[in-house]
Amino acid sequence: MNIAVNINSIKNNLPENVRLVAVSKTKPNEDILEAYNVGHKIFGENKVQDLVRKYEQLPKDIEWHFIGHPQTNKVKYIAPFVHLIHGVDSLKLLKVIDAEGKKNNRQIGCLLQFHIAEEDTKFGLSLSESKEILESKEFKNLGNVFIAGVMGMATYTENTHQIRNEFKSLKTIFNALKNEYFSAIKNFSEISMGMSDDYQIAIEEGSTMIRVGSKIFGERNY
Ligand SMILES: *Cc1c(COP(=O)(O)O)cnc(C)c1O
Repeated sequence: MNIAVNINSIKNNLPENVRLVAVSKTKPNEDILEAYNVGHKIFGENKVQDLVRKYEQLPKDIEWHFIGHPQTNKVKYIAPFVHLIHGVDSLKLLKVIDAEGKKNNRQIGCLLQFHIAEEDTKFGLSLSESKEILESKEFKNLGNVFIAGVMGMATYTENTHQIRNEFKSLKTIFNALKNEYFSAIKNFSEISMGMSDDYQIAIEEGSTMIRVGSKIFGERNY
């Protein structure tokens, strides 16, 4: 695996409006530094403990994204520095992130995760569940959290037609929320979709942020 080559070949082919989150979960600091040393600064992790350790050990100009569902009792550890939390799917979690944002005197960006895949193992909201959150009085009172957009994962399948349709559905959800709740809000702008096997399709369907791990760092051994 040549991490520098991999990351450059992905980035060289990205449209200007699409950013790459290099998913470094389970990978050692040396691997992250290989990407960092060719100028990459955006990394994603899905375990709070790993994210905190890497944040402490690695250069401070890295923009760290949390790409899973933080347990509510662990949000406090990432709240001081996390750039964006992908995968928020409840008002309860938003309230905790807000409270921790307040303690740190910052506004924490979140993406609402939607269930777009056929598999029922994947987390995420439906459009109506998200509306319920966004229309609630409790949500409107949150001052230290902001919704930066949406996130979703397609079904793990060879059927590219299905994957494409699932990404289309996330784009449709984004547009619906933008029109109804965020038309005047510039920072509701991100559609986080696309991983190693399907990011090309995701880009064609409007992704602004792809989350790619194994295609950069190689397969993970859990
Ligand atoms: C692991 C992970 C990725 C990256 O997966 P690859 O297939 O290795 O690119 C992207 N998004 C989420 C939420 C993940 O957990």
